[in-house]
Amino acid sequence: MPAAPADQLDRFSLPDAGGHFGRYGGVFVPETLMTALQELGAAYEVARKDPKFQAELKHHLKEFAGRPTELYFAERLTQHCGGAKIYLKREDLLHTGAHKINNALGQALLARRMGKKRVIAETGAGQHGVATAAVCAKFGFECVIYMGAVDMERQALNVFRMRLMGAEVRSVEAGQKTLKEAINEAMRDWVTNVRSTHYILGSALGSHPYPMMVRDFHREIGQETKEQILAREGRLPDEMVACVGGGSNAIGFFFEFLEDTAVKLIGVEAGGRGITRGDHAARFEGGKLGVLQGCKTYILQNADGQIELTHSVSAGLDYAAIGPEHAFYRDRKRIDYAYATDDEVMEAFQLCSRLEGIIPALESTHALVHGFKRAKAMRKDQVLIINLSGRGDKDVNQVQALLSKAK
Ligand SMILES: *Cc1c(COP(=O)(O)O)cnc(C)c1O
Repeated sequence: MPAAPADQLDRFSLPDAGGHFGRYGGVFVPETLMTALQELGAAYEVARKDPKFQAELKHHLKEFAGRPTELYFAERLTQHCGGAKIYLKREDLLHTGAHKINNALGQALLARRMGKKRVIAETGAGQHGVATAAVCAKFGFECVIYMGAVDMERQALNVFRMRLMGAEVRSVEAGQKTLKEAINEAMRDWVTNVRSTHYILGSALGSHPYPMMVRDFHREIGQETKEQILAREGRLPDEMVACVGGGSNAIGFFFEFLEDTAVKLIGVEAGGRGITRGDHAARFEGGKLGVLQGCKTYILQNADGQIELTHSVSAGLDYAAIGPEHAFYRDRKRIDYAYATDDEVMEAFQLCSRLEGIIPALESTHALVHGFKRAKAMRKDQVLIINLSGRGDKDVNQVQALLSKAK
């Protein structure tokens, strides 16, 4: 099928009823989870059209999460790069430190509406676990977080945060003992306890309706950005850049602009130590079409379909699959993709901290790296917006250790 020109895309027509974004997405789960996903899909369809649900969500996003977030003009970074005006969308200012609270709040309200008493989630770096623990405390859910044993050790402070907020954190000892195994364990729990339990998945990934639902809960990012840039500059930006792990902050940031084809959209993946097997998590650099954890998309796998090891300095981008909607818009050439390496990230992390007084999350720093390259190549009358998906407080110990090792 020849791709339709980008200006003929209707962003609201996706996904179809089966959860497909073109040939990506869908539902690939054991029989025992089919009913749960259908029930969730049906409940969400009603909720998303219910003004009461939307008003309630908006209220908690403001009062609990701290929306709207600022659109900040990064004056010194702009001077330093010497090209386009650089703006940062400040998702780092949200409660619990990243965009993830948008989705956690949305799904918690949906779980309450569905009469669920118990919430489970998976977490890699711990950011999604912390956001989930926070909303569970707020709404009085029993909360269980699955986390790989290796990640629990690396992110001990986030484990403590979750426990402080009343969550039970369960250590997963299988396989690599990281995010992929934690997701398997969470799915196993869901199969067993599906009546009482809602599974808050943390990115625009997995089986339908998750990629669509998680995207919707983050659309606020792009909606605010559009209003704010029109108020500040009287026009749309020329380019927008966001980092892509599963792809939730990026799709939320981009969605409102998909039909504004003059706005260039760029997603940035984790280039790790460089694009050689096992050294990175850039699914569009050497990944292939496959199915992982419920979803058909680009996956880093070997010739036999075994999932490759991945690496990134930032745990939040370190996953073998990318959200299906990203694969779709890449094929349509509406969103471009690039990657940033660990070394580039370490440098930009320090630059942003030093020039703006803002310590970015290592994940978000991937977007900064590519944004700075773009800004340098652009004219001074052009405008670039980078989504600062989270703050770097969680990363300072790791960066300190890496910097002292490099000396
Ligand atoms: C989890 C995380 C990401 C990656 O997840 P997406 O679903 O791709 O947004 C990016 N930035 C921060 C700060 C995160 O915590």
